[in-house]
Amino acid sequence: MRPANFILVLACLSTAFSALAAPPYTGPLFDAHLHYNDDAVGRYSIGTLHELFSKNGVRAILANSRPNDGTRALVEAAKAGARKDLAVVPFIRVYRDRADYGTWQRNPEILAMIVAEEKRGYYRGVGEFHVHGKDADTKVLKDIVDFAVAKGLVLHAHSDDEAIEIIFRHNPKASVIWAHTGFTTPLARVEEMLAKYPRLWGELSYRSDVAEGGALSEGWRALFLRHPDRFVVGSDTWVNERWDSYPSIMGGYRRWLGELPREVAESIAWKNGARIFGLP
Ligand SMILES: [Zn+2]
Repeated sequence: MRPANFILVLACLSTAFSALAAPPYTGPLFDAHLHYNDDAVGRYSIGTLHELFSKNGVRAILANSRPNDGTRALVEAAKAGARKDLAVVPFIRVYRDRADYGTWQRNPEILAMIVAEEKRGYYRGVGEFHVHGKDADTKVLKDIVDFAVAKGLVLHAHSDDEAIEIIFRHNPKASVIWAHTGFTTPLARVEEMLAKYPRLWGELSYRSDVAEGGALSEGWRALFLRHPDRFVVGSDTWVNERWDSYPSIMGGYRRWLGELPREVAESIAWKNGARIFGLP
C-alpha cells in the first residue's frame, strides 16, 4: 500500500470510528408524536404496542388517533393498570375520518366534536392537525385555539411557520408542539420562531436533515446546544409501515442523541415532554 493510500484509509477509519465512538442514548424516551389509527387497531393489539414500547425504552406516549377510539383504548388500558411504566398523554384528533382533512379548520362540527370529547376529562391536547399558511386564519381555528388555552390543552400542529404565527396570533397564550419542526423550515427561521414564541416546541420526526447518513448534523447540534429545552422526538406512526419500523425509528433517535452531551440528550429524549405535561 502506498503511503498516500494508507493515510486515506486511516482518515476513513477515523471518520467511521468517531461516528461509532459515541454510544447510543440508553435512557427513557417520550414518544411525542404517536397515532393509533383505525387501520392500525385491527393489526396491532394494545398488548403488542406495550411490548413494542417496553422493548424500545418508551416510557410515555403523546397519543392520538383517527377517529379518537384508538386513543380512548390506550387511555382505558392505562387506567386498568396494564402497564405502570407507561404514561399515556392523550390528544383529541381533529379528524373523524379522512374526509375531514383539509376542511376541518372551517367546519364548526369539528369544534363541537372537540368540545364534546374534552368532557371525558383526560385529554391533554388537540392534534395532530394539518394546516398551512393563511388556511390557519379561520374563525373555527381561532375558537379551537381559544378553547385549548381555556382548558390548558397543548396543540400539536403540522404546519408551516406562517400557520404557526397565525395560531399564536389567534391566542398568544397557546402552547404548541410543532410537528416535524416545519419539515424543511430553515434552521435560522426555526430559531427565530423559538425566540419569538416561548411556548413552542419542535418535534423532530421526518426532520431528516437532523442526522443525514446517521451522524448528527453540525447545524442541528449547535441548535440543540443553544435550546436544549425546546425539542422532543416522536415516531409519527401515521401508517402501519411506521409501526413496523418503530424499533429503527427509535434506534435512529438513540444514535444521534448519543452524540450530544448527556443532559441535552436526556432533555430532548424525555425531560422536555415530561415537563410540558407535568410527568414525574
Ligand atoms: Zn403525525
